[in-house]
Amino acid sequence: MVASSMPRPLPSGELLALSWKALLCDEVIRLALICSKAARDYSDAVTIMGATARASNFQKYGQARDVADCCRVVLERARLMLDEHVAEHGC
Ligand SMILES: [Zn+2]
Repeated sequence: MVASSMPRPLPSGELLALSWKALLCDEVIRLALICSKAARDYSDAVTIMGATARASNFQKYGQARDVADCCRVVLERARLMLDEHVAEHGC
């Protein structure tokens, strides 16, 4: 009987989500998710660039390098927006 009324701690994942929500505004979470996606895109593009270089496919390598350059610019811009928000908003 006593055991069923005892409070149970939240699982660590739920606790972490609550603490992030308490500390961070919706905008910084949105910008962090954009950065995360941009970083994955850049990583994928560099992986493809490496594969085309190993295959000595120079035309596809050039295309993959251009895509990787675009992804890098997007990542840098997303990171700058996140940094500017954090500096201005303090979250
Ligand atoms: Zn904020």
